[in-house]
Order: sequence, then C-alpha cells, then structure tokens
Amino acid sequence: MEKTLVILKPCAVQRAIVGQVTARFERKGLRLAGMKMMQLTDKLLDEHYAHLANKPFFQRIKNSMMAAPVICCCYEGVDAVETVRAMTGSTNARKATPGTIRGDFGMSFQENIIHTSDSPENAVVELNRFFKPEEIFDYNQAPFQFLYANDEY
Ligand code: ADP
Repeated sequence: MEKTLVILKPCAVQRAIVGQVTARFERKGLRLAGMKMMQLTDKLLDEHYAHLANKPFFQRIKNSMMAAPVICCCYEGVDAVETVRAMTGSTNARKATPGTIRGDFGMSFQENIIHTSDSPENAVVELNRFFKPEEIFDYNQAPFQFLYANDEY
C-alpha cells in the first residue's frame, strides 16, 4: 500500500499545533507507519529542496526549516500521496482552501505548516531520505473492511 512523507515544519512545532495537525490524518483513516522528531541540517535541506536551489529565497526557506526541530511522519493508505496532498492545500497558505491544513492553520507562503510528498516517486525518495528502514513499521491497525471496499486494497 502507498506511503507518503509528512513533515510538520518548525512553525507547526513552535505554534504547538502538532496534535491538531496529526489528528486530521488519524481521523481520515491513514495509518501512521513512522514518526520522529529531527533537527534538519543545511546538507539534508540542499537535497530536499534541490528543485528550489535557484530561487532567491532558497537559503531563507532552509533557515526556516532549521529554526526548530521538525516532526517527520510516514502515513500509509490507498492513494496516500494524493489524499494527503489534497488535505495539505496550496503552497501559499493565505490562498489555500479553507478545510485544508494550510488553509485552516496558516497565513504565510513560507511558514505553511507542513511539507507533503507531491508524487508517489518523490514519496519513495523522501521517505528514504528522512527515515531508516527500521523506523518504518508494518503493523495491523483497524480491520480494512471498515475502511475500504475489498477491491480497493
Ligand atoms: P510545496 O511545499 O507546496 O510542495 P514547493 O516544493 O514549491 O511547495 O516549495 C517548498 C517550500 O518552499 C514551500 O512549502 C514554502 O515553504 C517555500 N516556498 C515555495 N515558494 C515560495 C515563495 N514563492 N515564497 C516563499 N516561500 C516559498
């Protein structure tokens, strides 16, 4: 089943909304497969945000991601990447649709609460970047027949 990476950014940790944000993924029915607090480094962020390396705000967003520890989560479910991305909302939190996490908790383009993988391919790369294999857990949670139809999983 598909797994995706969610990072609660330093702004979420500082604003003490980690529980409120992670509660949404629990409520949705995604299985928590991994979770840890980490202090990110410039080197790791060079990799993670390589697609933004030529932007004028590159160092600024890296500094913002190092301003406090982050919470890295791995969530699993059918179409987990697309589902979590839809729950995230658009990058600029001021413009993000109300009901999404960014739309409900943020007012900033940069301080937009969470990072979430944007494709299944990137989710695999990003989970390998932030988690060791032994930090991802495969355990049985609620019976799937109450979460999905039997041809969905
Ligand atoms: P997303 O996080 O929605 O996938 P990107 O990968 O394009 O978006 O950008 C990574 C992060 O860099 C964003 O979440 C945001 O914190 C920051 N960022 C991107 N574009 C801007 C911008 N124009 N101004 C300020 N911060 C930005």
